Amino acid sequence: MEDCIFCKIAHGQVESQIVYQDEHLVAFDDINPQAPMHVLIIPRVHISSLLELGDGDEELVGRAHRLAARIARERGYDRRGFRVVANCGQDAGQSVPHLHFHVIGGRALQWPPG
Ligand code: 5GP
Ligand code: ZN
Repeated sequence: MEDCIFCKIAHGQVESQIVYQDEHLVAFDDINPQAPMHVLIIPRVHISSLLELGDGDEELVGRAHRLAARIARERGYDRRGFRVVANCGQDAGQSVPHLHFHVIGGRALQWPPG
C-alpha cells in the first residue's frame, strides 16, 4: 500500500522508535502516547483491519499477542497489568487503516473505554 503510513514504517521509509521487528511483525512506540507504555504492533503485510483477516492469519494474530505480552513483561507491566486494543472502524476511532494492536500500560486504565 503506497500511501499507508504503517507500511512505510514497516519498510523503514518513515522513521519510528522500533521496539521489535521480525519477518512477520513490527513493534514501535506510538507517536502520541496515551500512557507510559504505548507500543503499536503491526503485521508487516498490509491488512486494513481485523475485518480483513483471512484464513491462515490466525498465527499472525497469535504472534502479535504473544509479542504484546513479552514487551509488557520486559517493561515490568506483567505484575500491574496492561491492555491490548485493536480499534476497528469508525465508531472505534480507527485512524490508520493498517491493522495494529495498541499495547498500553503504566497507569490505571478506565473501563469501559470512552
Ligand atoms: P488508531 O486510532 O487507528 O487505533 O491508532 C493509530 C495510532 O497510530 C494512534 O495512536 C497514533 O498516535 C499513531 N500514529 C499515527 N501516525 C503515526 C506515525 O507516523 N508514527 C507513529 N509512531 N505512530 C503513529
Ligand atoms: Zn499498510
